[in-house]
Amino acid sequence: MTQPDASPRVLRVALPVPLRRLFDYTLPESFRTPMPGLRVRVPFGHGTRIGVVVACMACSDLPAAQLKPVNALLDDVPLLDAELLASVLWAAEYWLGSPGEALLNALPVALRDGRALPQLRAQTWMLSDAGRIALQTSRTRGASLALLQRLAAAELPAQCVRTLPAAERAALARLRRAGHIIAAADSAATPGTAPALNPAQAEALAQLRAQPPGFSVTLLDGVTGSGKTEVYLARIAEVLAQGRQTLVLVPEIGLIAQTAQRLQQRLGVGIDLLHSGLSDGLRAEAWLRARSGAARVLLGTRSAVFAPLPRAGLIVIDEEHDASYKQQDGLRYHARDLALKRAQALGIPVLLGSATPALESLHNAARGRYAHLRLAARANARPAPHVELIDLRRQRSEHGLSAPLLDALGATFARGEQAMVFRNRRGYAPVLSCAQCGWHADCPQCARPLTWHRAAQRLECHLCGRLQPVPPCCPSCGSSALQAQGHGTERLEAALAERFPDIPLLRVDRETTRTRAAQAALDTRLPEHGPALLVGTQMLAKGHDLPRLTLVAVTSVDEGLYSIDFRAPERLAQLIVQVAGRAGRGTQPGRVLLQTRHPDHPLLLQLLSGGYHALAASLLDERRAARLPPFAYHALLRAEAAHEAALFAFLDAARTALPSEAAIEIIGPMPAPLPRRGPRWCGQLLLAGAQRGALHRALKPWALVLETLPQARALRWSLDVDPLEM
Ligand code: ADP
Ligand code: ZN
Ligand code: ZN
Repeated sequence: MTQPDASPRVLRVALPVPLRRLFDYTLPESFRTPMPGLRVRVPFGHGTRIGVVVACMACSDLPAAQLKPVNALLDDVPLLDAELLASVLWAAEYWLGSPGEALLNALPVALRDGRALPQLRAQTWMLSDAGRIALQTSRTRGASLALLQRLAAAELPAQCVRTLPAAERAALARLRRAGHIIAAADSAATPGTAPALNPAQAEALAQLRAQPPGFSVTLLDGVTGSGKTEVYLARIAEVLAQGRQTLVLVPEIGLIAQTAQRLQQRLGVGIDLLHSGLSDGLRAEAWLRARSGAARVLLGTRSAVFAPLPRAGLIVIDEEHDASYKQQDGLRYHARDLALKRAQALGIPVLLGSATPALESLHNAARGRYAHLRLAARANARPAPHVELIDLRRQRSEHGLSAPLLDALGATFARGEQAMVFRNRRGYAPVLSCAQCGWHADCPQCARPLTWHRAAQRLECHLCGRLQPVPPCCPSCGSSALQAQGHGTERLEAALAERFPDIPLLRVDRETTRTRAAQAALDTRLPEHGPALLVGTQMLAKGHDLPRLTLVAVTSVDEGLYSIDFRAPERLAQLIVQVAGRAGRGTQPGRVLLQTRHPDHPLLLQLLSGGYHALAASLLDERRAARLPPFAYHALLRAEAAHEAALFAFLDAARTALPSEAAIEIIGPMPAPLPRRGPRWCGQLLLAGAQRGALHRALKPWALVLETLPQARALRWSLDVDPLEM
């Protein structure tokens, strides 16, 4: 009997192509057997592709004659470790994406094209205390002395070592062994001192410490300013002391800088950043530092959830309710949910923090899946801000600003304090209309009103981006009485600047922060002391800590009250509580004004009387009664086509292709909530199931069928599992 060939000669490879499958290749005789997680170059179509080895097998399901050989193995050791590989493949499976696209997207851009790993810039060399003493006691001479003097003058980036005289290069190694020269990142500035924790924080920390080691999820549910960040910091310090890594996620790039500064000052270690604002090189470097274990605290936005964590100790997700954690194209993953999966695989705890937890998270806490820790009061014992409604039906308002609101602003400035006016709409006015005949400017493609941008002198469609000049007179009746209807941030800015000409005013929206430089400049343009006014969109809801901010006004909450999206009430409540949380963080108490035409709306009344948690409880009851998430599971098929007929032909075929399973409710095909986007028609099909498992068992084979439908060829479609937007 011959010995069976034990060495696997078939590689199963994930390729960055939009197909939900893996591809088998043979391994040429001369190649060593690679480990999963390694990059390979393989023939594909008429060219070659870079892929990731997912498995090494003795044989394929396909006949060997149909398999092509691998061209090259690109790494010596796997780029992705077993946990990361498995977690990303799980994500592709769960959110119904292509495994190869998911894996390659998990890599920093600089590593996707198969280039060799860049050398980790071994940071910067500097003198240690011992080196300084050696220099002063002048027992060194020659090249060693020259190098010590060079480093005393300035730190030396490692790339510059090559340019040193040979004798000094030799001295570098010697002096490092002697401990006279160290890497700057290892020099660990001394950690800052933490404030003594208040009883609520201390109790939360004690509960976290009492958790058994391994995987756990804790919802740290504390009002804005209650000191959640101090609790994270205490835990991270403990994880650091064990020599383990922490991954911290925040929802927005705008929050990175201030968070990094706070982490760095308190923990006394370098913080490695992972977000889309970094150059490809810097991102690859942080990713590789994470992979090597050198990065000890990683801070990033959504995509940082794909960071390798070989020495993982903790994952912290700040503002866990934030919808930015959900990716809205490609693989539509949710960073919080993927982080939970990874933490489970890594056997580490997760901390979810929020002042306004997602209903899903509150539900999981109520079911005992998450530990639930509350911090009910602000850490500095400042009272919570006072929230009042302004009834717009009883008030004249100009440019969207009522008299009581303007009075409150004036009084705030008179006291030398700062205010924020919030409006979730950019531009001058959402509608430009004719006072004579009622005509208004619509996007010819989307059939929705164009937003008037007055300063830019144009009309803009916020759906498809179309730009049009402002007509000189009404195209319908010729009247010149064209007027703004409604108000956006640009109009508020103009009206407020006129009303309060001496008050420094800053507008913050996507228009004013288009460039990164503009964003960075924002925080420095308002005076720290004295009256000032911020006007802006939801970008204001997060960060932008103004110590003397005592008044927050929301010019209209009504759009959130009557939306067809079942998540709108939750979002509105979160937004109100978050913007309110910006008020009164300093020594002065805060005041919050909400303008509305519906002051009797139950949502507002409950939010004002019972706060976020009371409202969340009744919203959850409503969701349960209506069998909506988190009491049901959704998957949404979206499609866009140039012709309406093609769109519905596809959606109909997709519906027909579904297995007739009683456990799944099918809603549609139907037009999308916004049925036109530029020249395209948008439609959707919603699947709902009471059991996640049953829904998923139907979805996977269905997705594979969708890929092959002839009706799918001429249009764009996508699948969204657990969609946050309908
Ligand atoms: P959160 O993350 O819940 O919004 P922070 O941790 O940012 O709250 O704390 C809010 C403010 O209170 C910060 O200025 C912080 O320095 C301060 N603070 C937090 N905990 C304490 C404490 N135990 N003693 C004194 N000040 C504290
Ligand atoms: Zn007209
Ligand atoms: Zn449009």
